[in-house]
Amino acid sequence: MLAIRDLTKTYANGVRALDGVTLDIPRGMFGLLGPNGAGKSSLMRTLATLQSADGGSVTLDGSDGPIDVLRDKDAVRRQLGYLPQDFGVYPKVSALDLLEHFAVLKGLTDRKQRREVVDGLLVQVNLWDARKRKLGTFSGGMRQRFGIAQALLGNPRLVIVDEPTAGLDPEERNRFLNLLAAIGEDVVVILSTHIVEDVTDLCPTMAIMNRGQVLLTGRPSDAIEAL
Ligand code: ADP
Ligand code: ADP
Repeated sequence: MLAIRDLTKTYANGVRALDGVTLDIPRGMFGLLGPNGAGKSSLMRTLATLQSADGGSVTLDGSDGPIDVLRDKDAVRRQLGYLPQDFGVYPKVSALDLLEHFAVLKGLTDRKQRREVVDGLLVQVNLWDARKRKLGTFSGGMRQRFGIAQALLGNPRLVIVDEPTAGLDPEERNRFLNLLAAIGEDVVVILSTHIVEDVTDLCPTMAIMNRGQVLLTGRPSDAIEAL
């Protein structure tokens, strides 16, 4: 589980992007819904240890006990998979080569073991047949599925995906969301989106954010009704 308490963040320009966010996020898929500017990416980047908070606390259940997410960044990163909103890929590199490269960075030093992991992930995200193609030739949906493969390297306990379905056509979107749903119940998977159906279709629990605050949390059916 991920416990977020009274998290605050004001940027240098004076924008208060996180205004006392308190949330308990259970294992399984969790939807974070809100309009553009609500503070979703700010929250996601903070949880992914890419930016600091001004105040509050975040605790993640780790394999060796609770992790203080805001302070023990190395420990979080070992348990984290992240697909950022603006995930860029090197257009001239093949999917296989780049995933191998990410795997080395993740510490998968044993060549044979690394190959097994990389091949398994390419199959899992349905990119095996395209593994030798350059990423620049991939469709948006293929790129996002590649993004999930890199996020799953190293068996993370926390997977964060930020606005992953923006720009995908309905078929690609379904493929992508089903991939997320298959990650498993032991992993905290946070899906940030401004599309209501992304959440209602797949997430047992969710939160709605606006103006840096959590408006409500619960099951999608209850939460949407309460709006
Ligand atoms: P921090 O307080 O986390 O250091 P900054 O305000 O210094 O954040 O900005 C971090 C980065 O985000 C900078 O590169 C900045 O150009 C960029 N940035 C600034 N304003 C915005 C905005 N409104 N939306 C998204 N990114 C922004
Ligand atoms: P969302 O992901 O829900 O669209 P964001 O977290 O990107 O929300 O943005 C929340 C608010 O913070 C917005 O007003 C945005 O312009 C501002 N903002 C986001 N990133 C930065 C930044 N790096 N520097 C300054 N302002 C930012």
